[in-house]
Amino acid sequence: MIRKPMIFAATSDLSGKTRGKAFPADELNKRRERGMGWVPTNVQITCFDTIADSPFGSFGDLALIPDQSADVTVDFEDGTPPERFMLSDIRTLDGRPWGFCTRSILRAALLRLKELSDARLLAAFEHEFQFAGGSTLPYQGFGLQGHAEHAGFAETLSAALDEAGLRPDSFICEYGPDQFEVTVAPEEGVKAADAAVITRELTRMTARRFEQKATFTPIRDVASVGNGVHIHMSFMGDHGPLTYDAAGAHGLSPLTAAFAAGVLKYMDSILALTAPSVISYERLTPHRWSAAYNNLGLQDREASLRICPVTAKDPDAIARQFNIEYRAADAAASPHLALAAIVHAGCQGIEESLAAPQVTEEDLSLLSAAELEQRGFVRLPETLEDALQRFAANKVVTGWFDPDFAAVYVAHKTAEAAFVQDMDTAQKCAAYEDAY
Ligand code: GLU
Ligand code: MG
Repeated sequence: MIRKPMIFAATSDLSGKTRGKAFPADELNKRRERGMGWVPTNVQITCFDTIADSPFGSFGDLALIPDQSADVTVDFEDGTPPERFMLSDIRTLDGRPWGFCTRSILRAALLRLKELSDARLLAAFEHEFQFAGGSTLPYQGFGLQGHAEHAGFAETLSAALDEAGLRPDSFICEYGPDQFEVTVAPEEGVKAADAAVITRELTRMTARRFEQKATFTPIRDVASVGNGVHIHMSFMGDHGPLTYDAAGAHGLSPLTAAFAAGVLKYMDSILALTAPSVISYERLTPHRWSAAYNNLGLQDREASLRICPVTAKDPDAIARQFNIEYRAADAAASPHLALAAIVHAGCQGIEESLAAPQVTEEDLSLLSAAELEQRGFVRLPETLEDALQRFAANKVVTGWFDPDFAAVYVAHKTAEAAFVQDMDTAQKCAAYEDAY
């Protein structure tokens, strides 16, 4: 068959979906300058393809500008055309970053971090997902046979990630039914969130070639575990890593301590951005190994922020390996927006010179409400509605974004919630399984 190669200019939008438009590859130079036409109201397309109230209506034009440094070309060598997409920025017609472009929002957060601390952020996203088409073998948590059944998939996906310039780290037959986890090595700054988008999309593209569907829905069945997105973060300065300090409590450097304290202080108000679906709150409950309180845990998989273990022995290697992990995120969130919210919260902690958080090594669900309050912990929002209210009410948090951002975001999420409001929990889960 004759064919003319195309490139899909992609944006990770407020719904956490990757959307965009394709153009002929031989017009890349033109498109890098002029972009592809984009419409402001597209930002209100929910994950169910309904359109939320939009202040933009049918007006306005934007440009979707492909970024050649975020080019993905993967030839699966299965007779289908190579997959080709390029992460893109949304700019106004006079060339400024648009206030709802998630990549630009993340870039601004990273610039704030750099200005405050001279640190660059390294991040790695762990993604859990499930095969919607199932497996033939039940009871395979971490099982060799569970892995073997999908080993062809794992190897094709790893090759695809390699071709996209990412470094596959691990592939795990996870605990939940038909659940797997894919992780790539850390990348710096915006590239880390780009890598998360690329990982999700290549996982879906690989699954299709195996006649499967991979779903990253936050939770598929409330009787079982959810699909988390765990974001590992560390800081790099001009002279080496800045995350670890042997003299700090539990190895936290002053920078990491203040950053973590900010993330914890603002976590209940940023949850609407990191765990943004209606069913995200079915996952964020105690004893599901997700996150239910705003605590920094030492190697605790129920903590919303976790100090990860280090296996290295010499001081330099420890400093490179040491990282903290944000666990209250899922794949309904754009990785760029989730990371931006976390970085801004951390920056806020640095600006406010917050003291190092107390580190927990206990089950907080056993504490009474009074004990939690006395020790400064909050139960994270238990519904999307509550999370949105706390986001919109926190003027420090909404102040990190474009002046119209909070209102538009809340309208977007309200329309998404309206789509599922008359469904029971199982139907909601099924709808989100289809959407993500
Ligand atoms: N599935 C859990 C979650 O929803 C995480 C399990 C793990 O620690 O890998 O976050
Ligand atoms: Mg996992």
